[in-house]
Amino acid sequence: MQTSDKNLLTLALCLLLGWGLIGGVASGTEIAARTPPVEPVFTPILTRVLAEPQAVLGSDRRWHLVYELELRNTTAGPAVLEQVEVRDAERLVVLDAFSGERLTEQFQIAGQRVTTALLEAAQFGVLYLHLSFPDRESLPGTLEHWVTAQLSAVPPGQERSLSRGEPSEVGSSPAVVLGPPLQGAGYIAADGCCASTRHLRALLPLNGEYRLSQRFAIDWEKLDRLNRIYEGPRDDPHSYFIYGQPVLAVAPARVAVAVDGLLEATPGAFPENLPLAEADGNHIILDLGRGAYVLYAHLQPGSVQVRAGDRVQRGQVLGRVGNSGNSIAPHLHLQVMDAPSGLVANGLPYVFSRFRITGVDEAGTADFDHAEETGQPAMIVPVQPPSRHIRELPLDLTVIDWLNL
Ligand SMILES: [Zn+2]
Repeated sequence: MQTSDKNLLTLALCLLLGWGLIGGVASGTEIAARTPPVEPVFTPILTRVLAEPQAVLGSDRRWHLVYELELRNTTAGPAVLEQVEVRDAERLVVLDAFSGERLTEQFQIAGQRVTTALLEAAQFGVLYLHLSFPDRESLPGTLEHWVTAQLSAVPPGQERSLSRGEPSEVGSSPAVVLGPPLQGAGYIAADGCCASTRHLRALLPLNGEYRLSQRFAIDWEKLDRLNRIYEGPRDDPHSYFIYGQPVLAVAPARVAVAVDGLLEATPGAFPENLPLAEADGNHIILDLGRGAYVLYAHLQPGSVQVRAGDRVQRGQVLGRVGNSGNSIAPHLHLQVMDAPSGLVANGLPYVFSRFRITGVDEAGTADFDHAEETGQPAMIVPVQPPSRHIRELPLDLTVIDWLNL
């Protein structure tokens, strides 16, 4: 006990005094007899995976890993990140390497876009990662992150550093399988997986932790035959083709939360000064069992047909699509998470039992936003013939028909 206490003290002193003394710790260690010796190596950029990544099969028939990596500059001067390498720690292969624009596009400090992956002294940022794999067999079991950075407040000769992070495991639980949350044809999966930003980067410091409940959330809108989101006045919720559509229980479940009675905002602008607790508007959370919950947000006031504690059957009508809460246009926000809260939870992947893809907005989120702002048709490229999908997650901006039951 005394020896290890002394070692801790020596280590603390070395850290206080600087890097030059670190060699003294290694020579004084006596506890290495039973475990293989660990070579001390400075890792000035510390990395941490915020939540255990879990793979999901997307509607492109590839397996997707979506997760966040915190990068922390432990030095007293600026660090310019050059490259972040993601490795399969078991197969010892590089899975992907992020540098240049790919790095800055996916890196954020305090939720802001950056132009240079620069971390000031003692600052941290978050890298939003998306990797995809052709089949389940090629998924890694353990990830490792190697960061190359240019440092300034370091002894001469150590300006270019390589930091190797602790290995982190990839979760092995299968994604939750859901039935259809809506019925009929022409639904577009907006702000969906895996490279859009509004949901995937909604990382919030809540209740003492970073939370990303919306990692796999989708904002569902309904298109008409001309691929428009609404027809008529933009500020009238009734103009939207999805408005009032029944939302359905995606599985037999117990109702964990049911909130009704919140007013709807006028479409076209987000409501101002909305309390955080009202962000989801009228909403329902179902307890699916095994630690998974599904959220239906922004429902029409007066439409919620269930109460907390009720048991519901798959396909049962729960309420109607509306525009309550933090919503700019009527839509159904649907997500799965690990706790009965729309925000204070960790977002989990899920798949739908059966659906058909009829098109995709290849022009991206900007085109979807334009369609939502103007009522003009979205630039949907048809999928001919429509493709059938079983137990997959519809990817961003795919247009689908629900194949009910
Ligand atoms: Zn949403």
